[in-house]
Amino acid sequence: YTQAKALVYSKYGEPSEVLSLHTHSISPSLPSGSLLLRTLASPINPADINQIQGVYPVKPPFTSLLGTSAPSAVGGNEGCFEVVSVGSNIKSVTKGDWVIMKNTGFGTWRTHTLAEEKDILKIDSKEGLTAVQVGTVSVNPCTAYRMLKDFEEMREGDWFIQNGANSGVGRAAIQLGRQWGLKSINIIRDRPDAAATEAMKNELLELGATKVVTENELMDQGFKEQVKDWTIGGREQVKVGLNCVGGKPTSALMKCLSPSGHLITYGGMSKQPLSLPVSALIFKDIKFSGFWVSRWSDAHPDDKKTTVEEVLEMTRKGTFKDIPVQEVRWDWGTEESTLKEAVQGTLGGFRAGKGVFIY
Ligand code: NDP
Repeated sequence: YTQAKALVYSKYGEPSEVLSLHTHSISPSLPSGSLLLRTLASPINPADINQIQGVYPVKPPFTSLLGTSAPSAVGGNEGCFEVVSVGSNIKSVTKGDWVIMKNTGFGTWRTHTLAEEKDILKIDSKEGLTAVQVGTVSVNPCTAYRMLKDFEEMREGDWFIQNGANSGVGRAAIQLGRQWGLKSINIIRDRPDAAATEAMKNELLELGATKVVTENELMDQGFKEQVKDWTIGGREQVKVGLNCVGGKPTSALMKCLSPSGHLITYGGMSKQPLSLPVSALIFKDIKFSGFWVSRWSDAHPDDKKTTVEEVLEMTRKGTFKDIPVQEVRWDWGTEESTLKEAVQGTLGGFRAGKGVFIY
């Protein structure tokens, strides 16, 4: 028997209150259509917290599959897994291969799991890659990639503007943009001290950001003029805006878009609604869309594989850098409280990096 542990919840609420560490065992006699996977790395993304709170549209069903006293779901949606053994009917993967989950909602904060072929996407070659890189490729980089490609035809020299620029998605957008010849205006929140703000600006410039400004600088009266200056009197176009923050700073961001520009909203970190000036719609023809990577990957499983492989190839070549992460070791003896704290801390701002469980 394989001894396994999983972070499960049986009701919605704050992760610190509803998560518990459950131990169970997995039978060595695999059903012919099943795979046994060992988790190598699984990140803690903001949406995972919303899911546990019960406010996310994808709600994994509570089941008794793991033998928990009350029916439960396993937290987490993304991760990198190693194939440990395969049932007799499995042909597409073999022992030692690395796989990721095809869709969200599987439950990835667990040491081992059974899966079926339909659940997984095989990583063609794990050569030159780390488990963290593979375990974080399908949500953030795919989101940035599709938002820059699928909404407007962005040509070399075009600009995009984004908030949450230091987030996983933001850093991916900066790096993809640089490779595709796009210029970017990147907004970060002012850090508690000026030196930290400066350090963050430099970090993003090194990744390939064209300009980095703080929310306060963005909200300044003169900022629109500044953008005009950067874009040669507006002759270079700011075609796309990426928004994961909402609230007033996003209204300021909107004003920097060129006529017929497109604001794509993919997150709401400030929990503040967006207010859309009617003039932006009527006179500037600004378009507003939303993007959800889960919807996109369900609708385009083949494109998901291609996008993931393309980003991993850039990672291998060194042209796509890892996000900063805070590794949380999950060994057999790791306390439940350590794992729960790592999850609970995720929605606090100014973090040094995304939490990732390493097994
Ligand atoms: P990360 O965990 O990498 O980073 C979190 C980001 O949020 C940081 O830039 C942080 O800025 C910022 N932030 C935290 N609190 C606030 C706040 N109160 N106001 C404004 N900004 C804040 O995030 P991800 O890249 O994984 O995700 C970023 C957002 O994108 C999330 O909202 C997530 O749900 C969403 N998302 C949506 C997807 C989709 O398909 N729609 C897919 C992937 C992500 P700071 O350092 O200043 O605290």
